[in-house]
Formats: sequence, structure tokens, C-alpha cells
Amino acid sequence: MPSEKVIKQEIQIDERKLLELTVSWCKACGICMQVCPKNVLGEEQVTKKVILIAPEKCTGCGLCELACPDYVFTVRELYEVESRGTA
Ligand code: SF4
Ligand code: SF4
Repeated sequence: MPSEKVIKQEIQIDERKLLELTVSWCKACGICMQVCPKNVLGEEQVTKKVILIAPEKCTGCGLCELACPDYVFTVRELYEVESRGTA
């Protein structure tokens, strides 16, 4: 059985933080778009899955990470980013 391709996106928030999105896990519930205080997130027209409409406004507050029932968002600190993929 072919495995489903995992679609990921990243926002570089500042020199210390990244917001990582695993878009393929999104079930298009719309919760994150309601909670984001900076209107960073929107919905794709056809699939209604999350898209980035204003990534430059992201503060890394983490509300989307707390609210999403499908674990789409992860705020990563630089020390985590640096240690990724070293195994
Ligand atoms: S809260 Fe999660 S599952 Fe719901 S639309 Fe946002 S990213 Fe998708
Ligand atoms: S971390 Fe905060 S500002 Fe950035 S997308 Fe999530 S809720 Fe919006």
C-alpha cells in the first residue's frame, strides 16, 4: 500500500523560534483560524485545510498548537531545531 505523502510547512518566527505545520494532518475544523490573534491562518478554498495567509505576523504564541485537535502545529525553539536530524 503506498504511504500518504506528509506535507510540512515552516514559519521562521525569529532567530530562536520556528512554527512547524504538518498540513496533511489537518481535518479542516477551522479552530486554529478562530484562535490565532494575528490572523496568520486561513483556509484553502477547496479542501478547507489550513494555509498561511500572513506568516510574517506570527509571534510564536503557541495558541494554535494548544487548540488544534490534530497536532498540526509545533513551536520549536532553536536548540530543538539544531538537534533535529542529527541521528
Ligand atoms: S485546528 Fe488543526 S485540524 Fe483544525 S483547521 Fe486548524 S490545523 Fe486543521
Ligand atoms: S503561533 Fe500564535 S500567532 Fe503564530 S499562527 Fe499560531 S496562534 Fe497565530
